[in-house]
Amino acid sequence: MNYEPSSHNLARFPKWLKRPAAYSGRQGEVNNLIFTGNLNTVCVEAKCPNRSECFSRGSAAFLILGSVCTRNCAFCGVEYGTPHVADPDEGQRLAEAAAAMGLKHVVITSVTRDDLPDGGAGAFAGVIKLLREKIPDSTLEVLIPDFNGSVQALNTVLDSKPNVLNHNIETVPRLYPAVRPQAIYPRSLALLEHAAADGKTKVKSGIMVGLGETVLEVRNLLTDLKKTDCSIITIGQYLRPSRNQVPVAEFVTPEQFAEYEEYALDLGFEQAFCGPFVRSSYRAGEQFGKQLKD
Ligand code: SF4
Repeated sequence: MNYEPSSHNLARFPKWLKRPAAYSGRQGEVNNLIFTGNLNTVCVEAKCPNRSECFSRGSAAFLILGSVCTRNCAFCGVEYGTPHVADPDEGQRLAEAAAAMGLKHVVITSVTRDDLPDGGAGAFAGVIKLLREKIPDSTLEVLIPDFNGSVQALNTVLDSKPNVLNHNIETVPRLYPAVRPQAIYPRSLALLEHAAADGKTKVKSGIMVGLGETVLEVRNLLTDLKKTDCSIITIGQYLRPSRNQVPVAEFVTPEQFAEYEEYALDLGFEQAFCGPFVRSSYRAGEQFGKQLKD
């Protein structure tokens, strides 16, 4: 799939979604570290529209437990199928790459691994431990799947004490059957509520807009999220990764994003990041008060 607007559809993109043709900076270095470390990033696997910008700035979001997902969400470009056997050395290589990149805030996510007894929770905990040893001054953010609602799996991650625990609720409940059929809206809310009640980590969530939701539905979702005590919210524009995913229903205007941000802050979220190119890991370190390596 390809998130980058093709020359064919570029003309149909509103002006606020047009970006510089290319970024340079540290892209080569980041690509090289990922390649030599035999690592995956969600940036590449999901063909995130920000990857040139993020890589050029020396950042990336690591994807653990392979690049094949056991779920087939209709908005997501990550490959769906039979996942890879978990690689026991992946965490060590990831920690080394993160150190070489000079990351002060490391974002780790995974494909959904419904095939694993713990859903991959142990792998998250293992990576956090290795990163703490390798780069003790860095803050760590995990973007986790729903672990099929397993509190035990969630506790495994919470006990490893990431600085930020993120679980994207992705879209409004009405659209779950169409775009997120193997997930359950109340189950994701319950995960966030449990994580926030734990009190050891900042809890964060995010959604995409432009999938056909209404403004009222987004406001209601923000109210639901606030009730869980989630403290950070990200809202970005859905962009169709390829013709295999659902089409964009609407290009949400920057003014509407600003309105969502104001609404979320008025509800009491500590931080709200809303804009066309916002993704949950976009400039995540800066969201958390950490600048990237100079
Ligand atoms: S926004 Fe996140 S997923 Fe996209 S390129 Fe940046 S770090 Fe990667």
